[in-house]
Amino acid sequence: MTPRPELALVEGFERALINQRLHMVYQPKVRLRDGALTRVEALVRWKDSEFGSVPPSRFVPLAEKHGLIEELTQWGLRTTLRQWLKWREQGIDTSLAFNISALSLEQLDFPDLVERMCRALDVPTDRLVLELTESATQPLIKLMDTLTRFRIKGIGLAIDDFGTGYSSLMQLRQLPFTEVKIDRFFVGDAVNSQESRLIVKAIIDLAHGLGLTATAEGVETREQLQSLGELGCDVAQGYLISHPLEPDALMPWKQEFRGRWPGLIEDKGLALWSYAETDNLR
Ligand code: C2E
Ligand code: CA
Ligand code: CA
Repeated sequence: MTPRPELALVEGFERALINQRLHMVYQPKVRLRDGALTRVEALVRWKDSEFGSVPPSRFVPLAEKHGLIEELTQWGLRTTLRQWLKWREQGIDTSLAFNISALSLEQLDFPDLVERMCRALDVPTDRLVLELTESATQPLIKLMDTLTRFRIKGIGLAIDDFGTGYSSLMQLRQLPFTEVKIDRFFVGDAVNSQESRLIVKAIIDLAHGLGLTATAEGVETREQLQSLGELGCDVAQGYLISHPLEPDALMPWKQEFRGRWPGLIEDKGLALWSYAETDNLR
């Protein structure tokens, strides 16, 4: 993409949002115990005729800065919930992980809005997990009320990118999270570095001590997958398992992965695919 003034990009993004030219892709997360699909994470995509493929790391912060995040969140969530209904018709009753900007949490009525959207489409709230990232300007601790409201409604909360940035152990203890996502930096490094392996192990043990699910993101190699299994991690997500998928590709992936799983874990003590897919880990 050629560098352009920020404003042109924002205007382009707003047009794409209004004209429904964004779309969502979905990355599977699997249970390390047996390779069963536990959730899919919804990730937004913008491919523009003028700007090319713009990554969310570029346009989500712009949407936040220019007052467009609410609309993006609502569009993305509605699209994802509708997609869940289609998957359920195909026999895939999985959970959804959806990324939320900390800005949205500043609206006190946001949990009610999310609940209403679930109700309107008849998607059970316990199928939804919101993924949140801490930032310097928006400490999650300030948002305790809002986060608690989500939990009361049965909606799960994951802390994303844990171990880097601003997330802290204190937050884990004080806030009503249900899941910790270990940042891919540590996951990638854990195979070679004893320190990173120790950090990953400490995060997993801490998560378990607090009754939370530990998810590793950015799993790219068999070695990483196997070492996460040894460390007792619950869920894995990453290119090794699957790249983010177009909605119709989830069912074929599920079939393909069922055949691939035994080769990924080979004599590492992890079990074969379980047919009893209890999707809910919480
Ligand atoms: P994230 O929530 O940490 O999402 C994971 C990112 O890592 C995604 O990038 C995903 O495509 C990528 N990824 C997954 N597996 C691997 C792997 O094995 N290796 C590597 N190197 N990368 C992997 P993506 O889709 O570009 O999203 C970037 C970030 O943008 C997300 O980070 C999230 O913070 C934000 N984002 C994406 N979609 C949305 C959305 O709908 N709403 C909001 N508010 N933010 C979003
Ligand atoms: Ca995420
Ligand atoms: Ca992450």
